[in-house]
Amino acid sequence: MMKSGIYTQLAPVLFGNDTVVRAGETVKDLGCKKVMLVTDKGVLEAGAAGKVRHVLEQSGIEVVLWAEAETDCPEESVKKAAAIGRCEGIDGVVGVGGGSVLDTAKAVSAVVPNDDQVLEDIILYLTGQKDYANTPVPVIEIPTTAGTGSESTFVAVVTSEKLDCKIGLPVPPAYGIVDSSLMKTVPPYITAFTGMDALSHANEALTEQKNTPHSDLLAYEAIRLVGENLPAAVKDGNDMEARDNLAFASSIAGIAFNESGVHIGHSAAHALGHLYHIPHGVCCANMTPAVIRFAAKKYPQKMKRLGRLMGADITSDDSETIGKEAADAVRTFARAVGVQSFKELGLTKEQVLAAKSMFYGDALCMAFGGEVTEQDALDILADAYDE
Ligand code: NAD
Repeated sequence: MMKSGIYTQLAPVLFGNDTVVRAGETVKDLGCKKVMLVTDKGVLEAGAAGKVRHVLEQSGIEVVLWAEAETDCPEESVKKAAAIGRCEGIDGVVGVGGGSVLDTAKAVSAVVPNDDQVLEDIILYLTGQKDYANTPVPVIEIPTTAGTGSESTFVAVVTSEKLDCKIGLPVPPAYGIVDSSLMKTVPPYITAFTGMDALSHANEALTEQKNTPHSDLLAYEAIRLVGENLPAAVKDGNDMEARDNLAFASSIAGIAFNESGVHIGHSAAHALGHLYHIPHGVCCANMTPAVIRFAAKKYPQKMKRLGRLMGADITSDDSETIGKEAADAVRTFARAVGVQSFKELGLTKEQVLAAKSMFYGDALCMAFGGEVTEQDALDILADAYDE
């Protein structure tokens, strides 16, 4: 019998090379006349934000450009952007950038028609104890990295000052435009860790409590596409076939984990990223082999299939052997595309283990489709460090 579950697709996604030229009509169809274009300096310099701005203005949409988005979406930056957006009377937000920008755009779209209190009460919104007094303005998400899949997920991951951690504010996007031509300029290292982020989403979606045959299907395909295309895109950023395949992988991995979920690897990655200021994708890349090894105890056949998609010739049906071989394949892959280990990044084992107190027991950590003990959490962190 197939496992029962709900199929969901949060928002329409316009996908394909050069589809961004249709951003103006999309934004107009959503009823927006004056939007805030949220981006960051890197994306502005790379030209992607300017291209979108031009397309929007050609369609008669007024654009308020805000290029001050910061890494990991600190709540202060959301407040700054929202204050300007409110003052300008915007009726929509367009995010053009990596996950940090897309999350900022989502959060701004919720704060503008409400107020900064949204960010103070973030946990109440996340746990469904509070609803927005005013509906967020539509947010259109245009990713420029192939990693987060944020255009397909219901949360903005915000760095909360009050809670001193990264936490999700629920804000579903109205529309996504996934155009790999905007990703050509992503430097090799960022290409590598964002691709590993997409892989980590797919991996965790396979073993989160809400996994379905539908989310599995998307996750396996995302894993195959990352395995086959990430090395080529890291080697040559202008390899548009690889970029296109990774853009698709990131987007469907986003759909997979929005439907299923992510769990202990992401819970740990959020804590480690917050504590030691390591890029999200690097944390996920380093957690993934350890999570695979742990998950193989309960889901050996899923981890065997993942390992094979990542190039491991796994023939055994012994869960420990499967876990080790699949984890080794992913770790070797991560090093080959240039993602450094926690050790190489200068962290001590004690620092990595110390992250446990920040995430063990939280809802994300416990979303794994099986039991996770405190000792498991420590063992997973130790495994991620020791390799
Ligand atoms: P990022 O957005 O922080 O960007 C990293 C760097 O890449 C920045 O300096 C940026 O300027 C640069 N960059 C982006 N696109 C570029 C381009 N086309 N050309 C040149 N440079 C470019 O990195 P990310 O990995 O995309 O996003 C990470 C964030 O996303 C984290 O905060 C993470 O928590 C969040 N996230 C959110 C979700 C979600 O569902 N909402 C899912 C996964 C991750």
